[in-house]
Amino acid sequence: MDFVSEKIKALPPYLFSRIQKRKKQLEKEGKDIIDLGIGAPDLPTPSFIIDTLVNEVQKPENHRYSSYTGTDEFRQAVAHFYQKQYGVKLDPDEEVLALVGSKEGIAHFIPAVINQGEKVLVPNPGYPVYRSAVHLAGGNAIDLPLNAEQNGEPVFEELSDEALQDSKLMLLNYPGNPTAATVQKSTFLKAVTYAEKYQLAIAHDAAYSLTTFDGYQAPSMMEVPGAKEYAVEFGSLSKSFNMTGWRIGYVVGNREMIKALATYKSNVDTSQFIPVQKAAVAALTSDLSAVSEHNAIYQQRRDRMLNALTSIGIHASKPRGTFFIWAPVPQGYSSMEFADRLLTELGVIVTPGNAFGSAGEGYFRISLSVPDERLNEAVKRIEKLHMGGDS
Ligand SMILES: *Cc1c(COP(=O)(O)O)cnc(C)c1O
Repeated sequence: MDFVSEKIKALPPYLFSRIQKRKKQLEKEGKDIIDLGIGAPDLPTPSFIIDTLVNEVQKPENHRYSSYTGTDEFRQAVAHFYQKQYGVKLDPDEEVLALVGSKEGIAHFIPAVINQGEKVLVPNPGYPVYRSAVHLAGGNAIDLPLNAEQNGEPVFEELSDEALQDSKLMLLNYPGNPTAATVQKSTFLKAVTYAEKYQLAIAHDAAYSLTTFDGYQAPSMMEVPGAKEYAVEFGSLSKSFNMTGWRIGYVVGNREMIKALATYKSNVDTSQFIPVQKAAVAALTSDLSAVSEHNAIYQQRRDRMLNALTSIGIHASKPRGTFFIWAPVPQGYSSMEFADRLLTELGVIVTPGNAFGSAGEGYFRISLSVPDERLNEAVKRIEKLHMGGDS
């Protein structure tokens, strides 16, 4: 018998597993491996958030099902956050929906808006879930090229008129994983202009919206006038508040699409545990000083790592957001070859860029979300790497 669907069999191969296998093998041989491939914060969840959970979990009335769309209080907290952070007004009843993490929301959003065979513009390189979710929804992913050399912006001009006309949905992600690209509001304005011209829906993944440095503030797609007609924006508490395991996120924006996703989800899950939503309310309505503290730590790690890379002749641009560095591999290497060399010679794991799509070839991603002493050790090892050439 064959119990596995064609869709599951046809999922793109998981490049991370090969590296994890090598890691296990090297650790068995007694090697000390530093994993800079991790995409989740190493820092703990702030204690005021944990305290709220502990308090709320004691109350029996919080043990029942949440309403399908999340608690009123949670949706109001998201609306309040948008007002305060972006000056954007949202209707908490119809323009906000609670998610069991934004990954869940994105993966269910796609089948809620596209039909079998419809086309979706997917950033290349990009978060692998986008491509898989389009595939699982029976859609066709079309590459949305990014200007990797410069600022990682989408290059709509490289798409044919036909590709734009045939597409139903465009996915965007800023600050971006894996490229760490950040944009100004003008990029979103341009995206909305294209959406209007070609009657496209936009889903913006803002998982790193608060993880920013050097005074940069990431704009919201919703700040663009008319955005709500075409766009939804996904948010997450995972990265900004170190809450990856808690599974809480939200989507805001276009009512029709939010309603479609809510309908889809009401047949799949029954929202998140109420105490988790209560803890998320505490986070979203806080003064965000905890977020600034996390960002200051990432910023220092970023600068140390960039110095180490520069010292071996690798020039990556300085990211203003996410906890990633997206760096070009030295001449003469493929992404995989260079990642292999770092692992074998230094015991340092980085993610080869092609794990995020074909356009990631020639790059590698370093995650800064490892404890300081481990990052410092990785920096030391990288500085010793002999790159040949001059001396
Ligand atoms: C981590 C990540 C997510 C998923 O976040 P959750 O809310 O934990 O599901 C979504 N998008 C990107 C780009 C990410 O890196």
